[in-house]
Amino acid sequence: MRLVICALLGLLLVGCAGLTRGQNPRMSPPAFDPALVLPIVKWPPEQPRPLTAADAATAATSSLAAGATEPAAFRSDGAVLRQIATPWTAADGDIAPLLARMQATLLHSGGVGIAAPQVGVPRRVFLVKHGTRPPGQPTRIVAYINPQVIWASSETIEDYEACLSVHGVGGQLPRAEALRVRYQAADDLSGPPREVDASGWDARIFQHELDHIDGQLYIDHVAHLGRSLLPIDEMRKQRDAIHRKRGLLPEQPG
Ligand SMILES: [Zn+2]
Repeated sequence: MRLVICALLGLLLVGCAGLTRGQNPRMSPPAFDPALVLPIVKWPPEQPRPLTAADAATAATSSLAAGATEPAAFRSDGAVLRQIATPWTAADGDIAPLLARMQATLLHSGGVGIAAPQVGVPRRVFLVKHGTRPPGQPTRIVAYINPQVIWASSETIEDYEACLSVHGVGGQLPRAEALRVRYQAADDLSGPPREVDASGWDARIFQHELDHIDGQLYIDHVAHLGRSLLPIDEMRKQRDAIHRKRGLLPEQPG
């Protein structure tokens, strides 16, 4: 009898360990599963433009289902991109399915970061793909839950950005050169907050994603500076030239 109980307990423990591994976003393999890819909310779908007063009023009154991890709650006007997202709380349930879907969507898109509002979920959650500049180093995708900037350098740096939610364009804008972010880790949501320092390209990705969870887009900054957006191909050409000068991309052969 004792043997049977032990065997059953053993099975149960193995089952639990398997479940934990599957749900833990830090442990799950970075394998790409196309079935998890979500459509990305675009701003606005027809013609990218900065926020207007009318948009802000609409965004303030729009509401999406709390904890929605499916794209059913999308609004075609992209209003979710203009909401100030709310913190992820225990009431939102298990965060692992959302993170898995965001990771698949990020890998599918080829982007370097993605925020929950971009997949229709107005929560303060984003992923950053670290190690993309310079290329050739190992990359890793990290989830930042309820992040807060606790320090930013007064030095700024100019560079180009584009956004998965703003089709076909890019633009130049300054960002803080370095910052420190406090956040909850996906595998320890109720544990003490962690801190991460970022500089250069990674710091820029953080600031772009932090904007997203506050209902902002990079095009707002570009417009505020009185600058124009560029067609995406032209933007990439100019960005890559800057990155080659800074050693973030290898010199072009010849
Ligand atoms: Zn974006």
